[in-house]
Amino acid sequence: MSEEKSARRERLFYSQKHGYDLISDAERADCDAYCEGYKRFLDAARTEREAVKAAVALAEAEGFVPYVRGMALRPGLRIYQNNRGKTLSLAVIGEKSLAEGAVITAAHIDAPRLDLKPNPLYEDSELAYFKTHYYGGIRKYQWAAIPLELHGAVALRGGETLDVCIGADENDPAFVITDLLPHLAADQNKKTLGEAITGENLNLLIGSIPDQEEGADRVKLRVLSILNEKYGVTEEDFLSAELEVVPSLPTRDIGLDRSLLGGYGHDDRVCSYAALKALLDTPHPGRTAVCVLADKEEIGSYGSSGMGSEFFENFMADLCRTQNVELRHCFEKSFCFSSDVCNAFDPNFPEVSEKRNNARLNYGVSVVKYTGSRGKGGANDANAETLGYLRKVFAAHGVVWQSGELGKVDQGGGGTVATELACRNIETVDAGVPVLAMHSPYEVVAKFDCYMTYKAMKAIAL
Ligand code: MN
Ligand code: MN
Repeated sequence: MSEEKSARRERLFYSQKHGYDLISDAERADCDAYCEGYKRFLDAARTEREAVKAAVALAEAEGFVPYVRGMALRPGLRIYQNNRGKTLSLAVIGEKSLAEGAVITAAHIDAPRLDLKPNPLYEDSELAYFKTHYYGGIRKYQWAAIPLELHGAVALRGGETLDVCIGADENDPAFVITDLLPHLAADQNKKTLGEAITGENLNLLIGSIPDQEEGADRVKLRVLSILNEKYGVTEEDFLSAELEVVPSLPTRDIGLDRSLLGGYGHDDRVCSYAALKALLDTPHPGRTAVCVLADKEEIGSYGSSGMGSEFFENFMADLCRTQNVELRHCFEKSFCFSSDVCNAFDPNFPEVSEKRNNARLNYGVSVVKYTGSRGKGGANDANAETLGYLRKVFAAHGVVWQSGELGKVDQGGGGTVATELACRNIETVDAGVPVLAMHSPYEVVAKFDCYMTYKAMKAIAL
């Protein structure tokens, strides 16, 4: 009787198993090797521009070539298109015509950070600083009292663009935003977390030695001289620059069992790398496999490098035209795996999640039917049929997956590029890696989930 009872439970109940109870030793080795590659990518890709460069290097090593309009599209051809150094579209041409649609993976390569203001440099009390304006959703207090680096580009009047990188080399100096000492924080301690460090407090300390020349702003003059010596820039050049302040914290294994990865920018470079690697490892897809790595997601996907831009249409339209296919006919038969991170259940803050529906670390790639906030506002909300299709593909290819949502109802919420793809009449679903401390300078993911996200994207491209 009791045996029959348990068989009925087995048959009727949905139960999930921990990833490490499902994975073989051989696959565990594959997972670890995959994550070593991801660590190198994440450390090289501190900004969206650096992510494009790192992705192009990996793609070219695997036979990808820059797409030239009108190029003959033989099956197996591997191409990429670099849009303004900030977004990358890649494709492996399939056996089937684009009239049967493409299989698309989309992720974003920008991450929350601090950008220098157009007029950033000033001196106060014989200390030199850069003023910043934060980019994306940050918790400002988390950016004080940690080592920071400066990465980006300066467009000179002559038309040349300089790459700037200070802090990534261990012999480089780093920078910091100072916080108050506890001894004098009586007033600050009474403020809320959101108010204790304000946006205008996020000033980067960059120097303290005065120039030997007499006059005003001697410390400012000296740091500017150092920059001029190294890069040939003057103060006016900041007006046409994109300089980004990012944490100086390398990616590391976390935990005695080394099961987790701590690092800056997992959101969403962890899914970007998975999408890229899955495409590199797909030699002969049936339908054309496409990967798009977009900028500007963290500020709403606007701008010419955001997913709202037509750079993606233009790339796909060119491919379709070569095959005499109408773009809209390709899109209506296409499938998009919109890959972005979601929040992992955090036992330190259980009150913000609903345990039965929140993604957990080590339970695999997390499919998020809907994101959004306050009644799914702004969500893609994938179709039941789409999720049914994924269940079938994942089961056939041994992909360990779970369902996730962005926190409990009415706690907050968020969005992804899924809506930007879906509005082009592409069947789209959100899925990605669960993260602890998302949008903080040091986010945490589980290696198992990183690997399963890669495996999921490889499975859908077959
Ligand atoms: Mn994201
Ligand atoms: Mn984000």
